[in-house]
Amino acid sequence: MSSGEFGSMQFVVLSGPSGVGKSTIVDRLIRESPVRLVKSVSATTRAPRKNEVDGQDYYFLSLDEFTRRRLAGEFLECAEVHTSGKWYGTLKSEIHRAAALGGWALLEIDVQGARQIVDNFPQALTIFISTPSEADFERRLRDRGTESEEAIQKRLATARAELAEAGSYRFQVVNDDLAQTLSEITRILLEWKDKA
Ligand code: 5GP
Repeated sequence: MSSGEFGSMQFVVLSGPSGVGKSTIVDRLIRESPVRLVKSVSATTRAPRKNEVDGQDYYFLSLDEFTRRRLAGEFLECAEVHTSGKWYGTLKSEIHRAAALGGWALLEIDVQGARQIVDNFPQALTIFISTPSEADFERRLRDRGTESEEAIQKRLATARAELAEAGSYRFQVVNDDLAQTLSEITRILLEWKDKA
Protein backbone atom coordinates (compact mmCIF):
# COMPACT_ATOMS: atom_id res chain seq x y z
CA MET A 1 0.00 0.00 0.00
CA SER A 2 1.37 3.43 -0.82
CA SER A 3 0.69 6.68 0.97
CA GLY A 4 -0.20 8.32 -2.39
CA GLU A 5 -3.98 8.28 -2.05
CA PHE A 6 -3.64 9.69 1.48
CA GLY A 7 -0.62 11.90 0.90
CA SER A 8 -2.37 15.12 1.85
CA MET A 9 -4.53 13.62 4.58
CA GLN A 10 -3.60 13.71 8.20
CA PHE A 11 -4.37 11.20 10.89
CA VAL A 12 -3.55 10.67 14.50
CA VAL A 13 -2.99 7.22 15.97
CA LEU A 14 -3.49 6.63 19.67
CA SER A 15 -2.56 3.37 21.40
CA GLY A 16 -1.88 2.15 24.90
CA PRO A 17 -2.63 -0.70 27.27
CA SER A 18 -6.27 -1.30 28.14
CA GLY A 19 -7.21 0.31 31.43
CA VAL A 20 -5.04 3.32 30.76
CA GLY A 21 -8.06 5.56 30.11
CA LYS A 22 -7.84 5.82 26.31
CA SER A 23 -11.57 6.10 25.61
CA THR A 24 -11.99 9.03 28.00
CA ILE A 25 -9.02 10.74 26.36
CA VAL A 26 -10.47 10.14 22.88
CA ASP A 27 -13.91 11.49 23.86
CA ARG A 28 -12.44 14.61 25.42
CA LEU A 29 -10.12 15.24 22.45
CA ILE A 30 -12.98 14.92 19.95
CA ARG A 31 -14.92 17.55 21.91
CA GLU A 32 -12.15 19.91 22.97
CA SER A 33 -9.14 19.70 20.68
CA PRO A 34 -8.25 23.00 18.96
CA VAL A 35 -7.27 20.90 15.93
CA ARG A 36 -10.49 19.42 14.51
CA LEU A 37 -10.47 15.66 15.05
CA VAL A 38 -12.99 13.14 13.73
CA LYS A 39 -13.17 9.76 15.44
CA SER A 40 -12.46 6.94 13.02
CA VAL A 41 -15.09 4.23 13.52
CA SER A 42 -13.32 0.88 13.29
CA ALA A 43 -14.75 -2.31 11.83
CA THR A 44 -14.68 -5.44 13.96
CA THR A 45 -15.81 -9.05 13.92
CA ARG A 46 -16.53 -9.09 17.65
CA ALA A 47 -20.13 -8.94 18.85
CA PRO A 48 -21.54 -5.61 20.00
CA ARG A 49 -21.57 -5.04 23.76
CA LYS A 50 -24.66 -3.75 25.52
CA ASN A 51 -25.25 -0.09 24.56
CA GLU A 52 -22.89 -0.20 21.57
CA VAL A 53 -24.39 1.16 18.36
CA ASP A 54 -23.48 -0.12 14.90
CA GLY A 55 -21.85 2.63 12.83
CA GLN A 56 -21.15 4.69 15.92
CA ASP A 57 -18.98 2.57 18.23
CA TYR A 58 -17.89 0.13 15.53
CA TYR A 59 -19.05 -1.24 12.21
CA PHE A 60 -19.93 -4.75 13.32
CA LEU A 61 -19.15 -7.15 10.48
CA SER A 62 -19.34 -10.90 10.08
CA LEU A 63 -15.99 -12.62 9.56
CA ASP A 64 -16.99 -13.28 5.91
CA GLU A 65 -17.78 -9.64 5.27
CA PHE A 66 -14.62 -8.46 7.04
CA THR A 67 -12.50 -10.87 5.00
CA ARG A 68 -14.17 -9.85 1.75
CA ARG A 69 -13.48 -6.18 2.42
CA ARG A 70 -9.95 -6.92 3.58
CA LEU A 71 -9.18 -8.78 0.36
CA ALA A 72 -10.78 -5.97 -1.66
CA GLY A 73 -8.20 -3.60 -0.12
CA GLU A 74 -10.71 -1.52 1.79
CA PHE A 75 -8.65 -1.32 4.99
CA LEU A 76 -5.94 1.17 5.81
CA GLU A 77 -4.76 -1.29 8.46
CA CYS A 78 -6.23 -4.32 10.13
CA ALA A 79 -5.17 -6.94 12.65
CA GLU A 80 -6.35 -9.92 14.58
CA VAL A 81 -6.12 -8.65 18.14
CA HIS A 82 -4.28 -11.18 20.34
CA THR A 83 -6.39 -11.04 23.43
CA SER A 84 -9.73 -11.77 21.70
CA GLY A 85 -8.82 -13.53 18.44
CA LYS A 86 -11.21 -11.07 16.71
CA TRP A 87 -10.40 -8.86 13.74
CA TYR A 88 -10.32 -5.08 13.94
CA GLY A 89 -9.51 -2.60 11.21
CA THR A 90 -9.63 0.99 9.99
CA LEU A 91 -11.55 1.44 6.74
CA LYS A 92 -9.96 3.80 4.24
CA SER A 93 -13.37 5.43 3.87
CA GLU A 94 -13.05 6.67 7.49
CA ILE A 95 -10.01 8.75 6.57
CA HIS A 96 -11.91 10.22 3.61
CA ARG A 97 -14.92 10.91 5.85
CA ALA A 98 -12.73 12.84 8.30
CA ALA A 99 -11.12 14.83 5.49
CA ALA A 100 -14.56 15.65 4.02
CA LEU A 101 -15.55 17.01 7.45
CA GLY A 102 -12.41 19.15 7.45
CA GLY A 103 -10.68 17.26 10.25
CA TRP A 104 -7.93 14.80 11.01
CA ALA A 105 -9.00 11.22 11.62
CA LEU A 106 -8.32 10.01 15.16
CA LEU A 107 -7.60 6.29 15.26
CA GLU A 108 -7.68 4.39 18.56
CA ILE A 109 -6.03 1.14 17.50
CA ASP A 110 -3.73 -1.56 18.84
CA VAL A 111 0.05 -1.71 18.45
CA GLN A 112 -0.08 -4.08 15.44
CA GLY A 113 -2.30 -1.67 13.53
CA ALA A 114 -0.10 1.26 14.50
CA ARG A 115 2.95 -0.56 13.15
CA GLN A 116 1.25 -0.96 9.75
CA ILE A 117 0.42 2.75 9.73
CA VAL A 118 3.97 3.79 10.65
CA ASP A 119 5.36 1.60 7.85
CA ASN A 120 3.04 3.01 5.19
CA PHE A 121 2.23 6.58 6.14
CA PRO A 122 5.15 8.70 7.30
CA GLN A 123 2.88 11.69 7.87
CA ALA A 124 0.87 9.91 10.58
CA LEU A 125 1.15 11.31 14.08
CA THR A 126 1.47 8.41 16.52
CA ILE A 127 1.02 8.80 20.26
CA PHE A 128 1.39 6.12 22.89
CA ILE A 129 -0.45 6.56 26.17
CA SER A 130 1.20 4.76 29.05
CA THR A 131 0.73 4.35 32.76
CA PRO A 132 3.02 6.07 35.26
CA SER A 133 4.70 2.75 36.16
CA GLU A 134 3.91 -0.93 36.23
CA ALA A 135 3.64 -0.81 40.01
CA ASP A 136 1.13 2.01 39.70
CA PHE A 137 -0.88 0.19 37.05
CA GLU A 138 -0.97 -2.92 39.24
CA ARG A 139 -2.11 -0.89 42.23
CA ARG A 140 -4.91 0.69 40.17
CA LEU A 141 -6.06 -2.73 39.01
CA ARG A 142 -6.01 -4.11 42.55
CA ASP A 143 -7.73 -1.04 44.02
CA ARG A 144 -10.68 -1.60 41.69
CA GLY A 145 -11.08 -4.96 43.38
CA THR A 146 -13.10 -6.33 40.47
CA GLU A 147 -10.70 -8.89 39.06
CA SER A 148 -9.33 -12.27 40.03
CA GLU A 149 -5.60 -12.75 40.60
CA GLU A 150 -5.43 -14.66 37.31
CA ALA A 151 -7.12 -11.85 35.39
CA ILE A 152 -4.81 -9.30 36.98
CA GLN A 153 -1.74 -11.30 35.96
CA LYS A 154 -3.09 -11.60 32.38
CA ARG A 155 -3.70 -7.87 32.15
CA LEU A 156 -0.24 -7.13 33.52
CA ALA A 157 1.37 -9.43 30.94
CA THR A 158 -0.59 -7.76 28.10
CA ALA A 159 0.29 -4.30 29.38
CA ARG A 160 3.97 -5.27 29.61
CA ALA A 161 3.97 -6.48 25.97
CA GLU A 162 2.22 -3.28 24.81
CA LEU A 163 4.51 -1.00 26.78
CA ALA A 164 7.48 -2.64 25.08
CA GLU A 165 6.19 -1.18 21.79
CA ALA A 166 5.97 2.37 23.08
CA GLY A 167 9.35 3.34 21.65
CA SER A 168 8.15 3.01 18.05
CA TYR A 169 5.63 5.84 18.50
CA ARG A 170 6.59 9.45 17.78
CA PHE A 171 5.34 10.62 21.15
CA GLN A 172 4.70 9.01 24.49
CA VAL A 173 2.41 10.54 27.08
CA VAL A 174 2.11 9.21 30.60
CA ASN A 175 -1.49 9.38 31.75
CA ASP A 176 -1.05 10.31 35.36
CA ASP A 177 -3.45 13.22 35.53
CA LEU A 178 -6.17 13.52 32.86
CA ALA A 179 -6.07 17.32 32.52
CA GLN A 180 -2.30 17.26 32.15
CA THR A 181 -2.48 14.42 29.58
CA LEU A 182 -5.01 16.36 27.50
CA SER A 183 -2.93 19.51 27.53
CA GLU A 184 0.19 17.56 26.57
CA ILE A 185 -1.60 15.92 23.61
CA THR A 186 -3.06 19.30 22.59
CA ARG A 187 0.43 20.79 22.57
CA ILE A 188 1.67 17.92 20.35
CA LEU A 189 -1.27 18.38 17.94
CA LEU A 190 -0.71 22.12 17.60
CA GLU A 191 3.00 21.65 16.99
CA TRP A 192 2.25 19.01 14.38
CA LYS A 193 -0.23 21.29 12.67
CA ASP A 194 2.35 24.07 12.51
CA LYS A 195 4.79 21.71 10.82
CA ALA A 196 2.25 20.30 8.34
P1 5GP B 1 -12.49 -3.55 22.32
O1 5GP B 1 -12.95 -4.89 21.80
O2 5GP B 1 -12.29 -3.58 23.81
O3 5GP B 1 -13.39 -2.44 21.86
O4 5GP B 1 -11.05 -3.27 21.67
C1 5GP B 1 -10.04 -4.17 21.82
C2 5GP B 1 -8.76 -3.69 21.16
O5 5GP B 1 -8.94 -3.50 19.76
C3 5GP B 1 -8.22 -2.37 21.69
O6 5GP B 1 -6.88 -2.59 22.09
C4 5GP B 1 -8.26 -1.43 20.50
O7 5GP B 1 -7.16 -0.53 20.51
C5 5GP B 1 -8.18 -2.39 19.34
N1 5GP B 1 -8.78 -1.81 18.12
C6 5GP B 1 -9.96 -1.17 18.02
N2 5GP B 1 -10.18 -0.77 16.76
C7 5GP B 1 -9.08 -1.15 16.04
C8 5GP B 1 -8.70 -1.01 14.66
O8 5GP B 1 -9.40 -0.44 13.83
N3 5GP B 1 -7.50 -1.55 14.30
C9 5GP B 1 -6.69 -2.20 15.19
N4 5GP B 1 -5.53 -2.67 14.72
N5 5GP B 1 -7.02 -2.34 16.50
C10 5GP B 1 -8.19 -1.82 16.91
